[in-house]
Amino acid sequence: MPVRRALMSLYTKPPYLPFARELVRRGVELYASGGTAAYLREAGLPVISLDTLTGFSELLGGRVKTLHPRVFAGILARPTSEDLSSVEAAGGVPFDLVVVDLYPFEDARDKGLRGEELVELVDIGGVALLRAAAKAHARVFVVSSPADVSLALEGLDAPPERALAVRRALAERAFRRTAFYDLAIAYAFREGRFGELGTASPAEKPENEGAQEESAPLPWEEVLAAGGAAALPGGAASEPPSPLPRSIVVWGVEGKELRYGENPHQRGAFFRLAGASGPSLADLRLLSGKPLSYTNYLDVERALRLLADLEAEFSAPAAVVFKHASPAAAAIGADVLEAYRRAHDADPVSIFGGVVAVNRPADEALVQALAEIFLDVVLFPEGTDLDLLEPLTRKKNLRVFVYPRDFLRPAEDLDLRSVRGGLLLSVRERRAPSFRTVGAHPVPEELWPSLRLAWTVSAHVTSNAIVLARDGVTVGVGAGQPNRVGSAEIALRQAGERARGAVLASDGFLPFPDTVELARAAGVRAIVQPGGSVRDAEVIQAADAAGIAMVFTDVRVFRH
Ligand code: 5GP
Repeated sequence: MPVRRALMSLYTKPPYLPFARELVRRGVELYASGGTAAYLREAGLPVISLDTLTGFSELLGGRVKTLHPRVFAGILARPTSEDLSSVEAAGGVPFDLVVVDLYPFEDARDKGLRGEELVELVDIGGVALLRAAAKAHARVFVVSSPADVSLALEGLDAPPERALAVRRALAERAFRRTAFYDLAIAYAFREGRFGELGTASPAEKPENEGAQEESAPLPWEEVLAAGGAAALPGGAASEPPSPLPRSIVVWGVEGKELRYGENPHQRGAFFRLAGASGPSLADLRLLSGKPLSYTNYLDVERALRLLADLEAEFSAPAAVVFKHASPAAAAIGADVLEAYRRAHDADPVSIFGGVVAVNRPADEALVQALAEIFLDVVLFPEGTDLDLLEPLTRKKNLRVFVYPRDFLRPAEDLDLRSVRGGLLLSVRERRAPSFRTVGAHPVPEELWPSLRLAWTVSAHVTSNAIVLARDGVTVGVGAGQPNRVGSAEIALRQAGERARGAVLASDGFLPFPDTVELARAAGVRAIVQPGGSVRDAEVIQAADAAGIAMVFTDVRVFRH
């Protein structure tokens, strides 16, 4: 069935001109809405204005252009003689190709449009045309983006079976297009760009609606409820959009392709979640060096998260060193220079090529100290004197960032990961530990800061996590071992002599007394852990016998 009649309604017109010419060359009759018809005519193409078909010119200043039974019957008609004669009886003509370029609602955000101006950018007729044409894919080709033109042209020449498959593929793209379009509109409501959103106050609720309190939706419930599929950004404009399997479900996204993913042979991208509350890593200010890599993003995110937790716990100058997504060291100090020196000395090996972040503006001495070693990323809070950073910005391979102070506030956020065929979501929330002394020995007063430090840091170490701290700095970090005592061995080995008088923190309960035994042999004086094992009594007893104070937090802080 050759295509005989096309309907075009285009906001941005030039990208479709070669297509329109090609259609005319093939003898396709063109119909178009007002502006589009004028444009095509100007370009020298024969075109029939929809006004001629409907007997109406645009109504309401363009709000009603193509919304007319003759137009929609012409699209929606099934390929039966009954339907086709109904169209004819209504004064319409059957269309077998529909090409629509929607009002650019998605661009309105960048342009800062609001209120009335924004309302007028909500395309109604164009979306209806696309949906009608996609529904009628048994007969109708639909083109919803310049990227779809080449596929449509292929379909026009294809044998019937292949042509049908192409029409289905085009229909899928059209529904994706309108789904995203509507998502952008919903999101503009959410952001208040149309004005304030009303929420039902309890007084407005009908009396007998049931006594049950409606709980507030979790952020991820909103994410999934509003979810759409977003393809990876990038790729030539003529390429068809990426197919769904490479997509992620999000509330609103802006994507940026990275040089590569976790490894150089893998593709990667950073997506900014438009619906996320709080600051975004996209807001980091790069003073010098290359943009962040995939693994940099992870380390930077985790370094800033730990800094935020340390700020909440101590409200004191702090420095953290991250490598391979775990803290190599973290320290509190009288100033950031002291904190940094402590963190550096705690693990002078791992810091090589690492990420260093501090929570107070840097001074000259700190900049000097940082310039002396090889690092990948350094992060300073806003308020840092940028001129001071010159010795760092001169280094070609060092990324120097200034981050907004908002990052130092702990934020509820989403941990989102993919598994085959699905997504896992965990809402990140910091819960205050109870810090109950459960054993026979109290924690010596001077050990409390190190105990709080070790516990805070343990939540940021890949599980199983064991962290040793002394005098305001971590001295041993055991990460990611499949058994807890293995992590303890690593942390204690790293601490060496410094374990004497230190505090040991564990992100999960100690299931056996074995870790307590190791801690005793190394001279550890206090242990902090969630508690909750069936062998708690045995473990506490071992600590009592070893003269070690035992503190429970009643919170588990795994990080996988
Ligand atoms: P034109 O420039 O041809 O006058 O208008 C083309 C634009 O109008 C396209 O972006 C199309 O999506 C949109 N459009 C088509 N029909 C209608 C309608 O009935 N109402 C509104 N508001 N927009 C429409």
